[in-house]
Amino acid sequence: MNLTERDKKHLWHPLTQHKLHDTMLPIVKAKGAVLTDDKGNDYIDGISSWYTSVYGHCNDYILEKVGAQMQQLDQVVFSGFTHKPAIELSEELIKILPNNQEKLFFSDNGSTSTEIGIKMALQYHFNNGEKRNVMLAFEDGFHGDTFGAMSVSSLSVYNGPFEDFFIDVERIPVPTEDNIEAILSQIEELVNTKAIAGFVYEPLVQGAAAMKMHNAEGLNKILQTLKKHNVLLVADEVMTSFGKTGKYFASDYIDVKPDVICMSKALTAGLLPMAVTSCTQQVYDAFYDDDISKGLFHGHTYTANPLACAAALAGLELLQSTEMQDNIARITASHKQFNEEVKNHPKVGATRQLGVIYALDLNIKMERYGNLRDKLFKHFMDSGVFLRPLGNTIYILAPFVTTDEQLQKIYNSIKEALEIV
Ligand SMILES: *Cc1c(COP(=O)(O)O)cnc(C)c1O
Repeated sequence: MNLTERDKKHLWHPLTQHKLHDTMLPIVKAKGAVLTDDKGNDYIDGISSWYTSVYGHCNDYILEKVGAQMQQLDQVVFSGFTHKPAIELSEELIKILPNNQEKLFFSDNGSTSTEIGIKMALQYHFNNGEKRNVMLAFEDGFHGDTFGAMSVSSLSVYNGPFEDFFIDVERIPVPTEDNIEAILSQIEELVNTKAIAGFVYEPLVQGAAAMKMHNAEGLNKILQTLKKHNVLLVADEVMTSFGKTGKYFASDYIDVKPDVICMSKALTAGLLPMAVTSCTQQVYDAFYDDDISKGLFHGHTYTANPLACAAALAGLELLQSTEMQDNIARITASHKQFNEEVKNHPKVGATRQLGVIYALDLNIKMERYGNLRDKLFKHFMDSGVFLRPLGNTIYILAPFVTTDEQLQKIYNSIKEALEIV
């Protein structure tokens, strides 16, 4: 039996209806921007394996650092114990985070990082003697698949069985030039009628909503208004952090800084699962008390796993290197040029870009998981490019180390796709 057949026997894949999609492609190797399948075919990883492997797959520097850590300390309980990889990571991460961030809480993935952000917001008010039981979120947001994260997400279209168990959430649209005044009035109304604890938002780019982008000025006004009413600002930067937008964090484009920041994808350079929820001293202080029950009683077995911390530390070093910053600038400029070439094509609708994130909408109605989407996906793979269209949106979020030649291959494959849809 080959790997695909053996896979079918016992494996259940994420976000998959197995009756409709039963064939999984075995990937046996990855290096730099390239994935290799079991038949030896290469694919350029145009989405950095869900935005994680931004410094390239199996990056030698990261492997060396994690290898060395592996010889020293593999795993230890993070309650009552601490270790150098976590301490060093906290020092280095705080240096590049928005300067109001002071404390880091570790977990394992993006969903848990937002789950913790939501808990921080609810308990922050609870500890301060005020019961606030409603969260605020953007329409079309995605924040993960655990219950709190699902509740604030509105994109999870297949959440029917769970909806009765969601926490209470109010929604506002993302800001545009035209609707910002209406949003601000809606917020004034909401804070007067509901006990809004926190606002969970993907700053500037909504990843799962097909890289939908909004402007920093509008978001800034929303955050200003919410801050006035002591609504805790929880930035979900799981997708937007670590250089992808052209700055270390999308929040760096915005004057009002978040109270809490969630990060995960790309934190460990794609090597190991880990997440961090950072917060301000003020948030931390609301949990700091002689009363034990005011603490944040949340924890995961692999909290601050030393190997994952070592990978993250090495990743932060690479991110801040001149070489990586030059790569980000190079890809940003390259996407701009590609956009000039395709934006007036009759099949192309809106296009958008922030840093190395580029997206174009096809002028065609498409289902998120429909046949045309599958046809497009197959076309990309046949041409040696791994891209995952989201509905009628084609987007690129390739590793920072993707070469000019590899970028051209991605662009050419997209241009061909425009001719076959
Ligand atoms: C992917 C993602 C999550 C969920 O992260 P997981 O690691 O898949 O649980 C949450 N928020 C945003 C913005 C994401 O892109």
